[in-house]
Amino acid sequence: MRLDLKFKICNLKLIFMSCVFCKIVSKELPSEIIYEDGKIMAFLDISPVNPGHTLVVTKEHYENSLVTPEEILKELIVVIKKVALAVKEATRADGINLGVNNGKAAGQIIFHAHWHVIPRFLNDGYKMWGSKEYASKKEQAEIAKKIRQQL
Ligand code: ZN
Repeated sequence: MRLDLKFKICNLKLIFMSCVFCKIVSKELPSEIIYEDGKIMAFLDISPVNPGHTLVVTKEHYENSLVTPEEILKELIVVIKKVALAVKEATRADGINLGVNNGKAAGQIIFHAHWHVIPRFLNDGYKMWGSKEYASKKEQAEIAKKIRQQL
């Protein structure tokens, strides 16, 4: 039992030591902090889509938004809105994308839960994603049914 606990603590330390966002949260790495409270931090993305592109992260390490506890998610969405409005005003953006990538296949690069607040401008040339069409109404209905069954 004791050995188990020791291993878990060590494993947690390894995650904190290797995660770049944990290092930003602990201020071991510098960042341009936009917002901070007890559980949440927001800072500028160092590779912005447009200037003012901000990341909102949980201070605690969670691999992605899908494993982040609901209590924190409820607080997060309020902070995300606050930050989004500030980014929009400060950059005089025409619109704001709120984005979250979960998993490598979805474009997640840093495996610490984070939300993108991206200022957008008419004709800024950034394209979020392409789209496909369903092969048939049957295919569409089948996937909708499978998703509903998982709720
Ligand atoms: Zn982390």
